[in-house]
Amino acid sequence: MADYQNILIAVDFSAAANAVITRAKNIARNNLAKLTLIHVVEYLPPIDIAYEPVLSSTWNIDENELVEQAKQSLNKFCTEHQIATVQQHVVIGTPKHEICEYARNHQCDLVIMGSHGRHGLGLLLGSTANGVLHEMPCDVLAVKIKE
Ligand code: AMP
Repeated sequence: MADYQNILIAVDFSAAANAVITRAKNIARNNLAKLTLIHVVEYLPPIDIAYEPVLSSTWNIDENELVEQAKQSLNKFCTEHQIATVQQHVVIGTPKHEICEYARNHQCDLVIMGSHGRHGLGLLLGSTANGVLHEMPCDVLAVKIKE
């Protein structure tokens, strides 16, 4: 029986994503595991805080459009890395929260991510990897990203 059957890969489109997907493909192949790629669109609508915190009325970014663009980027990423049989999931939110939520709700048994990506500092574990590692009950592989 394979060690892992349902693997979630966190893709942030940084340079780290290439190392992460290369490692994930090998592990998935060796385990004949199902692969899901998740990308979280980090977007905070601006808030007017002069008096009461309310959503700014001058802001007109279409959230559906943001998600649509991210889906296209994830599709392109899959094509470039020649991964056809994969689930793709794009959602707006906080990376750590959304990655953990998806993994829990879909009974993922391994989460693969970069040790750091866009928020990582030097040799420290990036904030997202650190958060997921401490929150998830399943295995988490933080692929070491070389500086
Ligand atoms: P960071 O916390 O930015 O150092 O990122 C560490 C790792 O978390 C990255 O290599 C990705 O695997 C994952 N990650 C960070 N941000 C996102 C995101 N917006 N969507 C999906 N995965 C992410």
